[in-house]
Amino acid sequence: MMLKYFTNILTLCLACCCVFYGFAQQKSEWLTKFEQTQGQETLTYSEGIAYLEKLAGAYPEIKLLTYGTTDSGLPLHLVIFSEDKNFEPEDLQAQGKLIFMVNNAIHPGEPDGVDATMMLLRDLAQKKSLQKLLKNTVLIAIPFYNIGGALNRSAYSRANQNGPLSYGFRGNARNLDLNRDFIKADSKNALAFTEIFQTWKPHVFLDNHVSNGADYQYVMTYLATQPDKLGGGLGNYLRNEFIPHLNQQMNDKKQPMTPYVNVFGRTPEPEGFAGFYDSPRYTSGYTTLFHTLGFISETHMLKPYPARVQATYQLMQSFLEILATEGEKIKALRAKQAQDAISQNEFVLDWQVRRDTSSVLLFRGYEATRIPSKVSTGQRLKYHPDKPFTKEIPFYEFYKPSISIQKPIAYLIPQAWHKVIDLMKRNDVEMKQLSQDQIIDLDAYYITDFKTRTQPYESHYVHYQTEVEKKKQSIFLRKGDYVIFTNQSSNRYIIETLEPQAIDSFFNWNFFDSILQQKEGYSSYVFEDLAEELLKNDATLRKKLKEKIDTDEAFAKNPDSQLYFIYQNSPYFEKEYMRYPIFRLEENINILTE
Ligand SMILES: [Zn+2]
Repeated sequence: MMLKYFTNILTLCLACCCVFYGFAQQKSEWLTKFEQTQGQETLTYSEGIAYLEKLAGAYPEIKLLTYGTTDSGLPLHLVIFSEDKNFEPEDLQAQGKLIFMVNNAIHPGEPDGVDATMMLLRDLAQKKSLQKLLKNTVLIAIPFYNIGGALNRSAYSRANQNGPLSYGFRGNARNLDLNRDFIKADSKNALAFTEIFQTWKPHVFLDNHVSNGADYQYVMTYLATQPDKLGGGLGNYLRNEFIPHLNQQMNDKKQPMTPYVNVFGRTPEPEGFAGFYDSPRYTSGYTTLFHTLGFISETHMLKPYPARVQATYQLMQSFLEILATEGEKIKALRAKQAQDAISQNEFVLDWQVRRDTSSVLLFRGYEATRIPSKVSTGQRLKYHPDKPFTKEIPFYEFYKPSISIQKPIAYLIPQAWHKVIDLMKRNDVEMKQLSQDQIIDLDAYYITDFKTRTQPYESHYVHYQTEVEKKKQSIFLRKGDYVIFTNQSSNRYIIETLEPQAIDSFFNWNFFDSILQQKEGYSSYVFEDLAEELLKNDATLRKKLKEKIDTDEAFAKNPDSQLYFIYQNSPYFEKEYMRYPIFRLEENINILTE
């Protein structure tokens, strides 16, 4: 029943899409599976790779490469469209080409971008009118990012979605949501993505998705990286020029868009909604750390599949149109932003939406009511697509910093923390190694407070609301330990992963949980004698203990706590406990490096 209903909608919709896709003109050998099935099906992983191989074989402007591997065991593909037939990233960067990167099927249940990308590549190769868009831009696209998920196909995992008939699954081969994996990088997919991203250094990035949530008129919604968080001239340009121009390009194609409708379980009006906070765990949040204009497209799940694929195609074409005219500006702004990051001193670790100000969004929605549910005892939300409206609603698109820090001169990382060091290397961070063992005066953080999720989240028990206290200490570091100076264009990546308070810090992602546990202790009956000796010889400790007893009633009644207090304040207490093992160099002292 449901399939029949969808098929009818699909047939209706195709009547208006045929002209756009040019089904009639397209030679049958180049029709994609989507076109062959009248917009009902998306191609499988192997069909997709075969189609791209065929395109690359026929058109010298297209090349299909592989980078690394994925959790599925299969390599990650990257397809490149280079008008000059040059596929060397360094050459292209030296020539001043603009790199536009598209990522598809991070959630393979949302395959709109996969089909749209295949058709766009073909049309770019075949249609002279489109080729002018790629004079100065090179298009690189990951056809299937989550390959394990793409191989796990069914017709059921997207219960609310209107087609295609079958599709992949959100979780990857290890059931990870790859759109939360860009910092912790648990998956091989993330490591391969990092290699592609750091090799090609795209100026603009787009990740193609399908939404969940409210119902409204738009087929396409978009999420740009939060402009205040991107900051600088690039952030201003994103908010004041790129986004309006992108909306204009889509309006010209009769495809109006709205910012990602960030509401769940309620209607977007009258209260409006906030801009999405894309912290670095997400694609666009990650790309922001490297001064790339990051976008996520979210077609609306209830719109028929052909209409969604069409909108995704049009969006990618709109990006190419803007890049063709504004490429020089984007390159200059990005270069300046990267340069400014080198000397920037203050960095923001977390952001908060501003509720004191908003902009006005002209929103095309549907009337909605609450009616009794026929399946449960409660009320349900019911949208009425036959009652469309256009209303002004507030859009809380501005964010303010909630935690900021001054950067140190350098971070020192003992070589033991090899996963951190490995990720730094993969993210193009320059590091030096100590040339000999040294004792260096550094600032150490002690973790004074943090909360931990009680449910697993993406294979982690994530920490949050982390608080730290700084202590100056003489730290023994060994030959081969790492020094990261914070005079790099990748400073945001360095600081937003290494500062424990940052929302997506390595600390919060459990990289350092071993420091949260005390390794040694004592037997009270033995330590009693030692504690007596300690107190006898240490007037300061005696005073501290007395003060605590005088001011803390519970403590005064708890002999065990009193003994532990003495232990904690004695040389026997391990300094490693709760000490964040990456140290800040805050004074200009000479460090001997190789
Ligand atoms: Zn998605």
